[in-house]
Amino acid sequence: MGAKPKIAFYDFAGCEGDQLQVANLEERLLELLSHVEVVSFREVMTGGDIEPCDVAFVEGSVTRPEDAERLRRIRDNSAYLVALGACAAIGGVNCLKNFMEEDVYRERVYGSQGRWFATGPARPLRSVVAVDAEIPGCPIDKNEFARVTKELLLGRTPWLPDYPVCVDCKAAGNVCRFDLGRMCLGIITRAGCGAACVTEGAHCWGCRGMAPKANLDAARQIMDRAGFSRRAVQDLFRFYLGDTSAAL
Ligand code: SF4
Ligand code: SF4
Repeated sequence: MGAKPKIAFYDFAGCEGDQLQVANLEERLLELLSHVEVVSFREVMTGGDIEPCDVAFVEGSVTRPEDAERLRRIRDNSAYLVALGACAAIGGVNCLKNFMEEDVYRERVYGSQGRWFATGPARPLRSVVAVDAEIPGCPIDKNEFARVTKELLLGRTPWLPDYPVCVDCKAAGNVCRFDLGRMCLGIITRAGCGAACVTEGAHCWGCRGMAPKANLDAARQIMDRAGFSRRAVQDLFRFYLGDTSAAL
């Protein structure tokens, strides 16, 4: 990379919450900007055209035929491509449409004009182009973004936790949701969020994607032993992890 690497931000189907997290870096964003040149970032500056760059951060999932063509052009113009957030990395909540009839989601999203719009199954970026790194989460953790970006700019392979959210959860001192008679996907989900949702009183939905070597058989046994119906487990699993061919 040159003395001042060029970085760019692009978005596909998603809520743009991950780009907002980057903007929320505030003073640290100014520090980052002193080291890089931002060539495209529609969320915070004018213009959003595809520009040649060293690192492209791409948010959102691919859901329309023209998305794949635009994503390939971004890939062709970027030395590194980073999937930013759950929709880009694992398909995320957008994949819920993949379990509905096309007529149904067209009508729900576009109303009576549904047939006017091109649309299709939601997919993560890696189903279309090579992805060099990912920053997981819904939304991403801004501190993790800063760390991964620094590692990329230093030419290192970014590190992500390879253990499940339960490790974070124990460190946070939470009571396990299963002990409270509730479900939780922390047992198979990649850590790094500090078990944010459990700490706030909810359960893990799996937004950071499956941990490498997640033991689905053991997870299924835990769900069965706790007495949850196959349907309830499937619904929870599909919320973020619908693109995976795995089933719990
Ligand atoms: S609440 Fe969820 S994340 Fe925490 S220990 Fe239990 S299963 Fe793991
Ligand atoms: S607890 Fe689970 S759903 Fe919540 S932020 Fe962490 S990985 Fe995502």
